[in-house]
Amino acid sequence: MSVTSPPSDWHRSLAAAIRDPHVLLKSLGLSADLLPAARDAGELFPLMVPTSFRDRMESGNPNDPLLRQVLPIVEEHAESPGFVVDAVGDSASKRAPGLLHKYHGRALLVTTGSCAVHCRYCFRRSYPYHEEPRTLDDWAPAFDVLHEDTSIREIILSGGDPLMLTEVRLDDLLTRCEAVPHLSRVRIHSRLPIVLPDRVNQELIDRLRASRLTPIMVVHANHPHEIVDDCAESLRELVESGITTLNQAVLLKGVNDSVDALAGLSERLVDLGVIPYYLHQLDRVRGAAHFEVSDERALELMAELRRLLPGYAVPQLVREISGELHKVPLV
Ligand code: SF4
Repeated sequence: MSVTSPPSDWHRSLAAAIRDPHVLLKSLGLSADLLPAARDAGELFPLMVPTSFRDRMESGNPNDPLLRQVLPIVEEHAESPGFVVDAVGDSASKRAPGLLHKYHGRALLVTTGSCAVHCRYCFRRSYPYHEEPRTLDDWAPAFDVLHEDTSIREIILSGGDPLMLTEVRLDDLLTRCEAVPHLSRVRIHSRLPIVLPDRVNQELIDRLRASRLTPIMVVHANHPHEIVDDCAESLRELVESGITTLNQAVLLKGVNDSVDALAGLSERLVDLGVIPYYLHQLDRVRGAAHFEVSDERALELMAELRRLLPGYAVPQLVREISGELHKVPLV
Protein backbone atom coordinates (compact mmCIF):
# COMPACT_ATOMS: atom_id res chain seq x y z
CA MET A 1 0.00 0.00 0.00
CA SER A 2 1.23 3.48 -0.75
CA VAL A 3 0.97 6.15 1.90
CA THR A 4 0.65 9.49 0.20
CA SER A 5 0.29 12.08 3.00
CA PRO A 6 3.16 14.54 2.93
CA PRO A 7 4.81 14.87 6.34
CA SER A 8 3.58 18.41 6.85
CA ASP A 9 -0.12 17.47 6.74
CA TRP A 10 -0.25 16.42 10.35
CA HIS A 11 1.15 19.75 11.52
CA ARG A 12 -1.70 21.50 9.72
CA SER A 13 -4.25 19.13 11.27
CA LEU A 14 -2.76 19.76 14.68
CA ALA A 15 -2.87 23.53 14.22
CA ALA A 16 -6.56 23.23 13.30
CA ALA A 17 -7.44 21.26 16.45
CA ILE A 18 -10.30 22.74 18.51
CA ARG A 19 -9.19 24.44 21.70
CA ASP A 20 -12.28 26.50 22.49
CA PRO A 21 -15.28 24.71 24.10
CA HIS A 22 -17.61 27.19 22.41
CA VAL A 23 -16.35 26.11 18.98
CA LEU A 24 -16.70 22.42 19.85
CA LEU A 25 -20.24 22.75 21.22
CA LYS A 26 -21.41 24.95 18.35
CA SER A 27 -19.96 22.65 15.70
CA LEU A 28 -21.90 19.75 17.24
CA GLY A 29 -25.12 21.72 17.60
CA LEU A 30 -25.03 21.40 21.39
CA SER A 31 -26.54 23.72 23.96
CA ALA A 32 -24.53 26.68 25.18
CA ASP A 33 -25.70 25.63 28.67
CA LEU A 34 -22.71 23.25 28.68
CA LEU A 35 -20.28 26.10 28.08
CA PRO A 36 -19.72 27.59 31.57
CA ALA A 37 -18.76 24.22 33.07
CA ALA A 38 -16.58 23.41 30.08
CA ARG A 39 -14.74 26.72 30.39
CA ASP A 40 -14.42 26.34 34.15
CA ALA A 41 -13.11 22.75 34.16
CA GLY A 42 -10.98 23.63 31.16
CA GLU A 43 -9.01 25.91 33.44
CA LEU A 44 -7.72 22.77 35.19
CA PHE A 45 -6.80 20.98 31.97
CA PRO A 46 -7.60 22.74 28.69
CA LEU A 47 -9.82 21.29 26.02
CA MET A 48 -8.05 20.00 22.92
CA VAL A 49 -9.72 17.99 20.14
CA PRO A 50 -8.54 17.42 16.57
CA THR A 51 -11.26 17.97 13.97
CA SER A 52 -10.90 14.42 12.68
CA PHE A 53 -11.92 13.12 16.13
CA ARG A 54 -14.75 15.67 16.39
CA ASP A 55 -16.03 14.54 13.00
CA ARG A 56 -16.64 11.07 14.47
CA MET A 57 -18.99 12.44 17.15
CA GLU A 58 -22.76 12.46 16.77
CA SER A 59 -24.17 15.97 16.32
CA GLY A 60 -26.70 17.00 18.94
CA ASN A 61 -25.76 14.21 21.37
CA PRO A 62 -24.29 15.54 24.64
CA ASN A 63 -23.65 11.95 25.74
CA ASP A 64 -21.69 10.95 22.68
CA PRO A 65 -18.98 8.54 23.90
CA LEU A 66 -16.21 10.39 22.08
CA LEU A 67 -17.38 13.77 23.31
CA ARG A 68 -17.47 12.52 26.91
CA GLN A 69 -13.76 11.69 26.67
CA VAL A 70 -12.79 15.26 25.83
CA LEU A 71 -15.42 17.73 27.10
CA PRO A 72 -14.53 19.35 30.46
CA ILE A 73 -17.44 19.03 32.90
CA VAL A 74 -18.20 20.20 36.42
CA GLU A 75 -17.55 16.77 37.98
CA GLU A 76 -13.83 17.28 37.43
CA HIS A 77 -13.83 19.61 40.42
CA ALA A 78 -15.11 16.91 42.79
CA GLU A 79 -12.74 15.81 45.56
CA SER A 80 -12.97 12.02 45.80
CA PRO A 81 -11.12 9.91 48.39
CA GLY A 82 -8.27 7.95 46.82
CA PHE A 83 -8.10 10.09 43.68
CA VAL A 84 -4.73 11.81 43.67
CA VAL A 85 -2.39 13.78 41.42
CA ASP A 86 0.16 10.98 40.84
CA ALA A 87 -2.14 7.96 40.54
CA VAL A 88 0.41 5.42 39.34
CA GLY A 89 3.56 6.33 41.26
CA ASP A 90 5.42 8.00 38.42
CA SER A 91 7.47 10.22 40.72
CA ALA A 92 8.73 7.25 42.76
CA SER A 93 9.90 5.46 39.62
CA LYS A 94 11.99 8.28 38.18
CA ARG A 95 15.66 7.32 37.69
CA ALA A 96 16.72 10.46 35.82
CA PRO A 97 14.96 13.45 34.29
CA GLY A 98 12.53 12.01 31.74
CA LEU A 99 13.28 8.37 32.59
CA LEU A 100 10.78 6.21 34.51
CA HIS A 101 11.65 2.64 35.43
CA LYS A 102 8.93 0.51 36.99
CA TYR A 103 9.11 -2.94 35.47
CA HIS A 104 11.87 -5.44 34.80
CA GLY A 105 13.47 -5.17 31.39
CA ARG A 106 11.75 -2.03 30.15
CA ALA A 107 11.95 1.66 30.90
CA LEU A 108 9.99 4.66 29.72
CA LEU A 109 10.97 8.07 28.39
CA VAL A 110 8.60 10.98 29.02
CA THR A 111 9.46 12.51 25.66
CA THR A 112 7.08 15.47 25.71
CA GLY A 113 4.18 16.92 27.64
CA SER A 114 2.19 17.58 24.48
CA CYS A 115 -0.78 15.63 23.19
CA ALA A 116 -3.12 16.14 20.24
CA VAL A 117 -6.14 15.43 22.42
CA HIS A 118 -6.73 16.09 26.09
CA CYS A 119 -8.44 13.03 27.57
CA ARG A 120 -10.32 14.07 30.68
CA TYR A 121 -9.37 10.85 32.51
CA CYS A 122 -5.64 11.13 31.71
CA PHE A 123 -3.49 9.72 34.49
CA ARG A 124 -0.81 12.29 33.67
CA ARG A 125 -3.15 15.28 33.48
CA SER A 126 -1.22 16.95 36.31
CA TYR A 127 2.23 15.49 35.56
CA PRO A 128 5.09 17.95 36.16
CA TYR A 129 6.22 17.97 32.55
CA HIS A 130 8.12 21.22 33.11
CA GLU A 131 10.67 19.20 35.12
CA GLU A 132 11.47 16.91 32.19
CA PRO A 133 14.15 17.32 29.49
CA ARG A 134 13.60 19.94 26.83
CA THR A 135 16.84 19.97 24.88
CA LEU A 136 18.79 16.98 23.65
CA ASP A 137 21.54 17.80 26.16
CA ASP A 138 18.97 17.50 28.96
CA TRP A 139 18.53 13.84 28.02
CA ALA A 140 22.16 12.94 28.79
CA PRO A 141 21.53 11.63 32.37
CA ALA A 142 18.68 9.42 31.18
CA PHE A 143 20.82 7.89 28.46
CA ASP A 144 23.69 7.43 30.91
CA VAL A 145 21.34 5.26 32.99
CA LEU A 146 20.17 3.35 29.92
CA HIS A 147 23.76 2.63 28.86
CA GLU A 148 24.68 1.46 32.37
CA ASP A 149 21.67 -0.76 33.08
CA THR A 150 22.02 -3.78 30.84
CA SER A 151 18.83 -5.32 32.24
CA ILE A 152 16.76 -2.89 30.16
CA ARG A 153 15.93 -4.46 26.80
CA GLU A 154 12.93 -2.38 25.74
CA ILE A 155 12.50 1.39 25.70
CA ILE A 156 9.02 2.89 25.73
CA LEU A 157 8.54 6.32 24.18
CA SER A 158 5.69 7.95 26.04
CA GLY A 159 4.65 11.36 27.27
CA GLY A 160 2.38 13.17 26.60
CA ASP A 161 2.44 11.68 23.16
CA PRO A 162 5.81 10.84 21.56
CA LEU A 163 4.40 11.26 18.05
CA MET A 164 3.89 14.94 18.86
CA LEU A 165 7.66 15.27 18.51
CA THR A 166 8.85 16.74 15.25
CA GLU A 167 10.35 14.30 12.79
CA VAL A 168 13.80 15.66 13.63
CA ARG A 169 13.40 15.32 17.39
CA LEU A 170 11.87 11.85 17.13
CA ASP A 171 14.73 10.77 14.89
CA ASP A 172 17.25 12.16 17.40
CA LEU A 173 15.73 10.22 20.27
CA LEU A 174 15.41 7.02 18.28
CA THR A 175 19.02 7.34 17.17
CA ARG A 176 20.12 7.69 20.78
CA CYS A 177 18.08 4.64 21.75
CA GLU A 178 19.57 2.65 18.88
CA ALA A 179 23.04 3.48 20.22
CA VAL A 180 22.31 1.62 23.48
CA PRO A 181 23.66 -1.82 22.58
CA HIS A 182 21.49 -3.95 24.89
CA LEU A 183 18.18 -2.40 23.77
CA SER A 184 16.33 -4.58 21.29
CA ARG A 185 12.84 -3.09 21.09
CA VAL A 186 11.26 0.36 20.98
CA ARG A 187 7.64 0.67 21.99
CA ILE A 188 5.68 3.79 21.11
CA HIS A 189 2.64 4.67 23.19
CA SER A 190 0.57 7.03 21.09
CA ARG A 191 -3.01 8.18 20.64
CA LEU A 192 -2.18 10.08 17.45
CA PRO A 193 -2.97 7.22 15.04
CA ILE A 194 -6.47 7.38 16.55
CA VAL A 195 -7.09 11.10 16.98
CA LEU A 196 -4.76 12.65 14.39
CA PRO A 197 -4.41 9.93 11.77
CA ASP A 198 -2.38 12.16 9.40
CA ARG A 199 0.55 11.53 11.73
CA VAL A 200 0.89 8.02 10.33
CA ASN A 201 2.75 8.95 7.18
CA GLN A 202 5.38 7.27 5.05
CA GLU A 203 8.23 9.13 6.74
CA LEU A 204 7.22 7.80 10.14
CA ILE A 205 6.74 4.26 8.90
CA ASP A 206 10.06 4.33 7.03
CA ARG A 207 11.90 5.61 10.10
CA LEU A 208 10.46 2.94 12.35
CA ARG A 209 11.08 0.16 9.87
CA ALA A 210 14.67 1.33 9.35
CA SER A 211 15.43 1.10 13.05
CA ARG A 212 17.65 -1.69 14.31
CA LEU A 213 15.20 -1.85 17.22
CA THR A 214 12.00 -3.82 16.70
CA PRO A 215 9.18 -1.23 16.71
CA ILE A 216 5.93 -1.89 18.54
CA MET A 217 3.09 0.63 18.31
CA VAL A 218 0.61 0.75 21.18
CA VAL A 219 -2.35 2.95 20.26
CA HIS A 220 -5.20 4.05 22.51
CA ALA A 221 -8.82 3.80 21.39
CA ASN A 222 -11.73 3.32 23.77
CA HIS A 223 -14.83 3.05 21.60
CA PRO A 224 -15.63 1.51 18.20
CA HIS A 225 -16.84 4.86 16.86
CA GLU A 226 -13.22 6.04 17.03
CA ILE A 227 -12.08 3.45 14.53
CA VAL A 228 -13.57 4.63 11.27
CA ASP A 229 -12.49 6.47 8.13
CA ASP A 230 -9.03 8.05 8.36
CA CYS A 231 -8.33 6.39 11.72
CA ALA A 232 -9.06 2.92 10.33
CA GLU A 233 -6.82 3.75 7.40
CA SER A 234 -3.93 4.82 9.62
CA LEU A 235 -4.17 1.59 11.60
CA ARG A 236 -4.29 -0.43 8.41
CA GLU A 237 -1.16 1.34 7.16
CA LEU A 238 0.70 0.55 10.38
CA VAL A 239 -0.30 -3.09 10.29
CA GLU A 240 0.40 -3.53 6.60
CA SER A 241 3.84 -1.98 7.04
CA GLY A 242 4.65 -4.89 9.35
CA ILE A 243 4.74 -2.94 12.62
CA THR A 244 3.21 -4.87 15.49
CA THR A 245 0.25 -2.74 16.57
CA LEU A 246 -1.62 -3.17 19.85
CA ASN A 247 -4.44 -1.23 21.45
CA GLN A 248 -4.88 -0.30 25.06
CA ALA A 249 -8.23 1.05 26.21
CA VAL A 250 -9.43 2.49 29.48
CA LEU A 251 -12.74 1.32 30.93
CA LEU A 252 -14.79 4.52 31.30
CA LYS A 253 -18.27 4.98 32.72
CA GLY A 254 -20.58 6.52 30.15
CA VAL A 255 -18.11 5.82 27.35
CA ASN A 256 -17.47 2.11 26.92
CA ASP A 257 -18.92 0.37 30.00
CA SER A 258 -21.19 -1.81 27.90
CA VAL A 259 -20.76 -5.14 26.16
CA ASP A 260 -21.73 -3.61 22.83
CA ALA A 261 -19.04 -0.91 23.03
CA LEU A 262 -16.26 -3.22 24.18
CA ALA A 263 -17.11 -6.06 21.83
CA GLY A 264 -17.48 -3.59 18.96
CA LEU A 265 -14.10 -2.08 19.78
CA SER A 266 -12.39 -5.46 19.74
CA GLU A 267 -14.14 -6.49 16.51
CA ARG A 268 -12.99 -3.36 14.69
CA LEU A 269 -9.45 -3.69 15.99
CA VAL A 270 -8.98 -7.32 15.01
CA ASP A 271 -10.61 -6.70 11.61
CA LEU A 272 -7.74 -4.26 10.99
CA GLY A 273 -5.09 -6.57 12.40
CA VAL A 274 -4.65 -4.61 15.66
CA ILE A 275 -4.41 -6.72 18.81
CA PRO A 276 -6.68 -5.70 21.73
CA TYR A 277 -4.00 -5.73 24.40
CA TYR A 278 -5.16 -4.14 27.64
CA LEU A 279 -8.41 -2.86 29.08
CA HIS A 280 -7.28 -0.69 31.99
CA GLN A 281 -9.29 -0.04 35.07
CA LEU A 282 -9.22 3.72 35.54
CA ASP A 283 -6.11 5.15 37.14
CA ARG A 284 -7.43 7.04 40.15
CA VAL A 285 -6.26 10.48 39.15
CA ARG A 286 -7.81 13.58 40.69
CA GLY A 287 -10.68 14.93 38.61
CA ALA A 288 -11.60 11.62 36.95
CA ALA A 289 -13.67 9.84 39.61
CA HIS A 290 -16.87 10.17 37.58
CA PHE A 291 -15.38 7.80 34.98
CA GLU A 292 -14.78 4.94 37.41
CA VAL A 293 -16.49 1.58 36.80
CA SER A 294 -16.68 -0.88 39.70
CA ASP A 295 -14.51 -4.00 39.60
CA GLU A 296 -17.66 -6.10 39.84
CA ARG A 297 -19.11 -4.51 36.70
CA ALA A 298 -15.77 -4.73 34.92
CA LEU A 299 -15.59 -8.46 35.59
CA GLU A 300 -19.16 -8.95 34.38
CA LEU A 301 -18.25 -7.21 31.15
CA MET A 302 -15.17 -9.38 30.73
CA ALA A 303 -17.23 -12.55 31.20
CA GLU A 304 -19.57 -11.40 28.44
CA LEU A 305 -16.65 -10.54 26.15
CA ARG A 306 -15.20 -14.01 26.64
CA ARG A 307 -18.56 -15.48 25.69
CA LEU A 308 -18.90 -13.39 22.54
CA LEU A 309 -15.39 -13.09 21.14
CA PRO A 310 -12.53 -15.37 20.15
CA GLY A 311 -9.86 -15.44 22.81
CA TYR A 312 -7.41 -13.34 20.80
CA ALA A 313 -9.97 -10.50 20.67
CA VAL A 314 -10.43 -10.30 24.44
CA PRO A 315 -8.11 -7.74 26.09
CA GLN A 316 -6.60 -8.36 29.48
CA LEU A 317 -8.37 -6.40 32.22
CA VAL A 318 -5.64 -4.83 34.35
CA ARG A 319 -5.02 -2.21 36.95
CA GLU A 320 -1.79 -0.33 37.50
CA ILE A 321 -0.94 -0.25 41.18
CA SER A 322 1.83 2.01 42.36
CA GLY A 323 4.84 -0.05 43.48
CA GLU A 324 3.71 -3.35 41.89
CA LEU A 325 6.23 -4.99 39.58
CA HIS A 326 3.75 -5.48 36.75
CA LYS A 327 0.21 -4.51 35.75
CA VAL A 328 -2.16 -6.45 37.97
CA PRO A 329 -4.77 -8.59 36.15
CA LEU A 330 -8.30 -8.46 37.57
CA VAL A 331 -9.79 -11.93 37.86
S1 SF4 B 1 -3.29 11.10 24.74
FE1 SF4 B 1 -2.60 9.88 26.50
S2 SF4 B 1 -1.15 11.21 27.61
FE2 SF4 B 1 -2.36 12.52 26.20
S3 SF4 B 1 -4.11 13.26 27.39
FE3 SF4 B 1 -4.79 11.39 26.37
S4 SF4 B 1 -4.38 9.75 27.86
FE4 SF4 B 1 -3.19 11.54 28.50
